Amino acid sequence: MDFKEYQGKQVLAERFENVALGLVTSDPNAVVSYGCEIGFPIVIKAQVLIGGRGKAGGVKLAFNKDEAIQISKNILGMDIKGHKVEELLVSKAVDIKDEWYMSITFDRSNRAMTLIFSIEGGVDIEQVAHESPEKVIKMPINPLKDIEILKLEKELLGSGLKSKYVDEVVKIIDSSYRLVVDKDLTLLEVNPLVLTEEDEIIILDCKMTVDDTAEFRQSNLFNLDPKKEESREQLAKSQGFSYVHLDGDIGIVGNGAGLVMATMDAVKNAGGDPANFLDIGGGAKAEVVRNALKLVEGNPKVKSIFINVFGGITRGDEVARGIADVVNEAPPRVPIVIRLTGTRSEEGLEILKNETDLSVTDVMDEAAESAVRLGGQ
Ligand code: GDP
Ligand code: MN
Repeated sequence: MDFKEYQGKQVLAERFENVALGLVTSDPNAVVSYGCEIGFPIVIKAQVLIGGRGKAGGVKLAFNKDEAIQISKNILGMDIKGHKVEELLVSKAVDIKDEWYMSITFDRSNRAMTLIFSIEGGVDIEQVAHESPEKVIKMPINPLKDIEILKLEKELLGSGLKSKYVDEVVKIIDSSYRLVVDKDLTLLEVNPLVLTEEDEIIILDCKMTVDDTAEFRQSNLFNLDPKKEESREQLAKSQGFSYVHLDGDIGIVGNGAGLVMATMDAVKNAGGDPANFLDIGGGAKAEVVRNALKLVEGNPKVKSIFINVFGGITRGDEVARGIADVVNEAPPRVPIVIRLTGTRSEEGLEILKNETDLSVTDVMDEAAESAVRLGGQ
């Protein structure tokens, strides 16, 4: 699960004092009063789960009340690479002398957590690595030895970090690594780690991801108000099916992971783009189908829904019952296409024919094509 900047910073603030925290709000007036309280200039930052906010205009300095109102209003409805801005983080603006980069993440090629540090931060690290590789430290971390301090000091100096900052940077890296281990993080990125004009080192931005399989021992982290897509995933879990949010606009519901993947392929082949993966599992009852359908329909990007069920232990009549219940409760917002075969599919088709006017077929590719066609209208 990914965290927004301010959530990641909350976690960091448990161990670090030099974190640029502030106020999280959706109210431009609150930004102004906070600015008056802490003093201008302030920095106003879009809180979305995507990097490059600065470049997209989602990070701005405000020097007075008028600017604060104007900038807040501008950033608040903004769409940053498909992520709608609904919250702002407001902090005291920092006078920046230097921007550094630090991340600790799982590197599969090294089969180890790996530290990356560079004195060329604030920008795309891939580009720095490409243009001036000597300025990028990449150090795999041996889990049995933790961070090797002496080696790290040497590398930091070698990469151009001034010696007077080495001790503090080492401390920050070492504490960060401990945090990563303690909290089961798969990514902690601070870009930039900032050196201020006053020679303070400050954590100005944060990207954090916790390992999804660590929920059982990291409940505090998982309770940090997660993103919408994530809460859909969690809602799905609590309702007994599995859901993965994707970028497309054709909603997909099926039974069995294999069939759902095949369904996604069929949609792709028909020229469409799946909006999600949703597996109602084996033997799903009408209630599960009903909840699944509502969840998919609730995604505003979805333009049509393809329900693909191959009855085995899942009974076609149960599935049909669930579908009929939802569409009779409220007419569906988008066209729904159903392919139903297997156990009790005849009874199911009967229910759908009698109680709904949805389009039904028993040929998968045909169904995929009509879902894509209907979604494009
Ligand atoms: P990102 O673009 O999503 O990575 O957002 P960041 O939080 O990293 O901010 C982008 C850039 O905005 C930083 O690299 C800084 O150059 C600048 N910035 C952010 N906060 C401040 C601040 O308090 N003062 C100044 N002067 N610049 C800032
Ligand atoms: Mn950043």
